Amino acid sequence: MKKSNILIIGQGLAGTVLADKLMQKNHNVTMIDKGHQGVSSAVAAGVINPVTGRRIVKSWMIDELQPVAKAYYLQVEEKLKIKLWHELPSLRIFTDTAMSNNWSVRMEHEGYQEYLDFASAKELLNYPIQQEFGVGIIHHSARANIGLMISSFREKWKREGYLVESEFQYQELSIANEEAIYQNKRYDKIIFCQGWEGAQNPLFSDLPFQVSKGEVLILRIPKIPEEKIIKRKVAFVPLGDHLFWVGATNFWTFENSAPSSMGMDWLLAEVRAVLSEKSSFEIVEHIAAIRPTVRNRRPLIGFPENITINLLRPTIGIFNGFGTKGTSLVPYWADQFIEHLDEVGWLLENKTKQKQNDKFK
Ligand SMILES: Cc1cc2nc3c(=O)[nH]c(=O)nc-3n(C[C@H](O)[C@H](O)[C@H](O)COP(=O)(O)OP(=O)(O)OC[C@H]3O[C@@H](n4cnc5c(N)ncnc54)[C@H](O)[C@@H]3O)c2cc1C
Repeated sequence: MKKSNILIIGQGLAGTVLADKLMQKNHNVTMIDKGHQGVSSAVAAGVINPVTGRRIVKSWMIDELQPVAKAYYLQVEEKLKIKLWHELPSLRIFTDTAMSNNWSVRMEHEGYQEYLDFASAKELLNYPIQQEFGVGIIHHSARANIGLMISSFREKWKREGYLVESEFQYQELSIANEEAIYQNKRYDKIIFCQGWEGAQNPLFSDLPFQVSKGEVLILRIPKIPEEKIIKRKVAFVPLGDHLFWVGATNFWTFENSAPSSMGMDWLLAEVRAVLSEKSSFEIVEHIAAIRPTVRNRRPLIGFPENITINLLRPTIGIFNGFGTKGTSLVPYWADQFIEHLDEVGWLLENKTKQKQNDKFK
């Protein structure tokens, strides 16, 4: 495969994983990112939950996604010498009898046995939580510390000269004359990984972004054991030292990305619905970010044909739309994206093959 010059805009989870995997294939990668303050990947818990929702269904493609994600985060642990991957079963607090009944039914379905069970009295011992309708247990849930991962890569890539801290300037991009040039440098590919801000990118104005705001509390809860996630409407994710990431809201309308009093009230009501009266807590932080959610909840990956240079060769791309599940989706889809580029060719030739393979259009 030909070595390409690639510019990646955005070093959240999507840009980081894509850049790392492209570098592993010896491409020349440059990244531009304006900062991680209030960014989705920095605020997220990084939980991978194989079975979700009131309907108790497996997450989309989870059987394929999770092994790839786990292998990737373990590989990064080794490379960066940081701890990222935490296997954490989840306690699922039922909100009514119907949910408990549905749980029993779902446990019998093919493909669910390895994931679902009822929590035993022994497992609930020492958990000062409300459990009027019972508690289920979800096996194989996990947390990858994606915030730590992106900040560690950022330091490394800044030191090595691969990452420039600045805001991408659209007026300095030229895609005329069958070439993509940014700030006087020619690139074989420019791939936008901007998270929710992709919704404001004039190149992708017709894509079905429908972004949502998530707010989170970091609580200190001295009396809750730290080896499981607890989930009702919100998740309590143990961070160590008796700190818990508690969230998140899912607001579809909002004025800005800052934490709000409405978010705080909603979260506190949910905290009180989970913790028994005996359990005291202290609020350490209130944080918020906007998720890159998409109307049909599927990622946005590829080289849109309305950008005419892409008809000649895949040049201006997008890797985005990972919504509420970036931790599991991004490593798998980064591999697929790169594999697709290997198939269609990185340079001008291969127009025919590119046409044949339209799965990313
Ligand atoms: C409260 C909350 C909780 C979540 N919890 C989970 C969870 O438990 N598990 C899970 O899997 N997912 C979770 N998510 C979703 C997860 O955060 C996302 O799926 C994922 O992190 C998105 O990564 P991204 O790289 O696409 O976007 P982002 O993280 O938004 O990164 C985009 C980057 O691009 C940069 N950028 C944008 N525009 C420009 C520009 N013009 N110039 C330069 N740089 C630019 C930004 O500064 C940023 O660094 C959560 C999200 C929120 C908000």
